[in-house]
Amino acid sequence: MKLEQIAVKQIKGVSALKEGELHAFGVRTVADLLAYFPFRYEDYRLRELSEVKNGEKATVLGVVRGAPLLQRYGRSKSRLTCKVEVGGMLITAVWFNRHFLQEQLKPAREIMLTGKWEQHRLQITVSESEFPDSAKNSKSGSLQPVYSVGGNITQQWMRKTIAAALEQYGPMVEEVLPYELVEEHKLMSRAEAFRLLHMPGDFRKGQEARRRMVYEELFLFQLKLQAYRSMNRRRNDGIAFRIDSETIRSFASTLPFELTDAQKKVINEILVDMRRGYSMNRLLQGDVGSGKTVVAAIALYGAVKTGHQGALMVPTEILAEQHAKSLQRLYDGTGLQVGLLTGSLTERKRRDVLAGLQMGLIDVVVGTHALIQDDVFFHNLGLVVTDEQHRFGVNQRSVLRRKGLNPDVLTMTATPIPRTLAITAFGDMDVSSIREMPKGRKPIKTYWVKHDAMDRVLGFIRKEVAAGRQAYVICPLIEESDKLDVQNAIDQYVQLQQAFPDLKVGLLHGRLTAAEKDAVMSEFSSNESQVLVATTVVEVGVDVPNATLMIIMDAERFGLSQLHQLRGRVGRGEHQSHCILMADPKSENGRERMKVMTETNDGFEVARRDLELRGPGDFFGTKQSGLPEFRVADMVADYEVLELAREDAGRLTERDDFWTNESFARLWAILREDPLFKGEQLD
Ligand code: ADP
Ligand code: MG
Repeated sequence: MKLEQIAVKQIKGVSALKEGELHAFGVRTVADLLAYFPFRYEDYRLRELSEVKNGEKATVLGVVRGAPLLQRYGRSKSRLTCKVEVGGMLITAVWFNRHFLQEQLKPAREIMLTGKWEQHRLQITVSESEFPDSAKNSKSGSLQPVYSVGGNITQQWMRKTIAAALEQYGPMVEEVLPYELVEEHKLMSRAEAFRLLHMPGDFRKGQEARRRMVYEELFLFQLKLQAYRSMNRRRNDGIAFRIDSETIRSFASTLPFELTDAQKKVINEILVDMRRGYSMNRLLQGDVGSGKTVVAAIALYGAVKTGHQGALMVPTEILAEQHAKSLQRLYDGTGLQVGLLTGSLTERKRRDVLAGLQMGLIDVVVGTHALIQDDVFFHNLGLVVTDEQHRFGVNQRSVLRRKGLNPDVLTMTATPIPRTLAITAFGDMDVSSIREMPKGRKPIKTYWVKHDAMDRVLGFIRKEVAAGRQAYVICPLIEESDKLDVQNAIDQYVQLQQAFPDLKVGLLHGRLTAAEKDAVMSEFSSNESQVLVATTVVEVGVDVPNATLMIIMDAERFGLSQLHQLRGRVGRGEHQSHCILMADPKSENGRERMKVMTETNDGFEVARRDLELRGPGDFFGTKQSGLPEFRVADMVADYEVLELAREDAGRLTERDDFWTNESFARLWAILREDPLFKGEQLD
């Protein structure tokens, strides 16, 4: 019988009632309970009173001196005091509502006190006490686990029950890691680690137990990603595009600019993948404005020239329209047909596009999630590029594959991602990075001003527009309320219209229809409007090189990556650009963000600071970040172990005997249970 199959009610002391309550914590089996690790420890290790600071909580050992004194208040409240000698000092111990201890406080009896030390009054306010001569499960000298509990399940009960479970079933905890890794990293056994995590005894052992479980957790997670990657390569059932370099070179020579070395490097990495027989699964990351779109355009061109269709999937309709236009422009003269598929096409247009895709009349389609709906069929889809803001987790990406299309996939991220998150959220992918900006770009100058500086800001807009340039004014998200957002943008728009009666001011927000958005955007693109007031819909990808001024209202409401992303809408042309953050941040964190923005233009650095300030959970800002929840590991703090686990998992899954050697059977079983491998032939 496996621990995963034994119900918790088999454990001594678990009634049907308690069992039901445990279910609420996700604990159903003995295995679940044993893996219900404490989130911290209460420290009952004995201290010398002379080393305890005033106001600190500590555990000390003493001897009862003198008679206890009990005062009662009303029916249930009481205050009990007693003199206790601790380390040669006579102090007062105070208990509240523990009147029953009065009889046990016999002179000369040893007592262990845990509580808050008040030095000037020589007094301990006792939260817990124990008599070593009668304590059954003495806590003294130990670290006690603190579990997340609630309802009728108390800390005491949880400790007792887990202790009972360990006694009864602890030795049955099986090793899951391959022996060679346990040896190599000098890890304790799994059973030992489980026991010590619940009852560490001393601190060092607890740390060792934690190290073991962190490694296991990160290794099993990486194993899944690496096995997925390696299976994909071995299966070798992707498309081997027969793209020749000359085709690419001659197309590149028609571009209005010279590609940067960084762009050439990543194009090469992508082409190598495309020519191979497995399906590409590659992440392309680069700073805002580093020129990822043209890289995608070239890869798509290569796919089409070798007889396939390509798709570019983007998060918003505005972007889809913009990319469709700019691709068609880049492909001008090549005969490539670009189509657009979004949720807001008329039924008639939509039917035309669907037919065009199915018959192969459209070579490259640009669209939103509308692209992966059930009724979309391609004639011969070979390459999918997603310009995502990390909206796809590993599992979702595999859904795309399983639509039976089996195309090459290139995922582009809007801004760089710190490595620790990249190998967690995108660990199954190969990564290409652009770390160089196109030549001639002038770094954007960023300023942070208070809201009362609006007059100066208006003057700045006036000056830029007089010089022929354009400006964005971004209004923030307010409280998740779309309606308030829109109102806020409208207010701003009205104000700017009044301030600049001679200019044309555009307004862009989520409530406009697709046609309206399109009209607003093309007015701005063609410089018919000089100022664009917008909510964050322009956050990703919008490209108007003549815009040189980015003004962000209430900038403290944005996260760092988002601010950097917004700033990246300017600085795209030859003229000097400026970004003005209007903010009166009250929080330390808010001020820190403004500081980072004014200090650096480098997206890789911004991402690193963002992760530091926000932590991994909030970094991506969406629930579907593809980030797993670890029980023990902290992917930032345990970064080194993460790297190690990734290397080990990569090495193991590349081995020829990984799927045949029985000593890995436990790992196969774990992989088989994962949804990522559902429907996959594993052996
Ligand atoms: P990203 O998607 O990485 O934020 P884009 O692909 O939108 O960046 O490119 C930003 C701008 O830079 C676009 O106007 C694009 O035409 C231009 N661009 C791209 N590559 C180069 C290059 N090698 N030299 C000059 N300009 C370039
Ligand atoms: Mg882009």
